[in-house]
Amino acid sequence: MTEKLFLEVVTPQKAIVSEEAEIVVAPGSEGEFGALKGHTTFLTSLKIGTLRYKDVNGKERYLFINGGFAEVLPDKVTILAESAERRKDIDVERATKAKERAERRLAAKTADTDLLRAEVALRRALHRLNVKQAK
Ligand code: ATP
Repeated sequence: MTEKLFLEVVTPQKAIVSEEAEIVVAPGSEGEFGALKGHTTFLTSLKIGTLRYKDVNGKERYLFINGGFAEVLPDKVTILAESAERRKDIDVERATKAKERAERRLAAKTADTDLLRAEVALRRALHRLNVKQAK
C-alpha cells in the first residue's frame, strides 16, 4: 500500500481540503510538481492552475487554484491559495461569464482598460472551465 501524506488547501475564506492523499500534483510557479510521502522539504509560489491528488480510495480529485504558496514537508503538503474550488463547486455559468467579460475587455482595449487585470481574469476563468472538464 502506498504511504499517505496529509494535504491541506486553505484560502483566506475557508479550508477547502484537509485529508490524506497518496500523491499531490500542483501548479508551481517554476512548473508543475508532484509530491509523495517522504518528499524533501521545499517552499514554492503557485500559479493559476489545477491541483490534483489521489484520495485514500485512489480516486483522482481536481481543484482550481488561484495562485498562492505551497509548503511541502515529508508528510504534509500545505497550499495557501488566493482562492480555490473543488471541481464540484465550480460554477460553470459564472466562469463562462467571467471569461466573456475578460475577452470583451481585451478586445475593446479602451484607454482605461487594465489589460493585465483582464488577462489574469481570463486565465482564472479558462482554468476553472478546464478543471470542470478534467477527465
Ligand atoms: P468573478 O469575476 O466571477 O467574481 P473571479 O475570478 O474574480 O471571478 P475570485 O476573486 O477568484 O473570482 O474569487 C472570489 C470568490 O468567488 C472565491 O471565494 C472563489 O472561490 C469564488 N468563485 C469565483 N469564481 C467561481 C466559480 N466560477 N465557481 C465557484 N466559485 C467561484
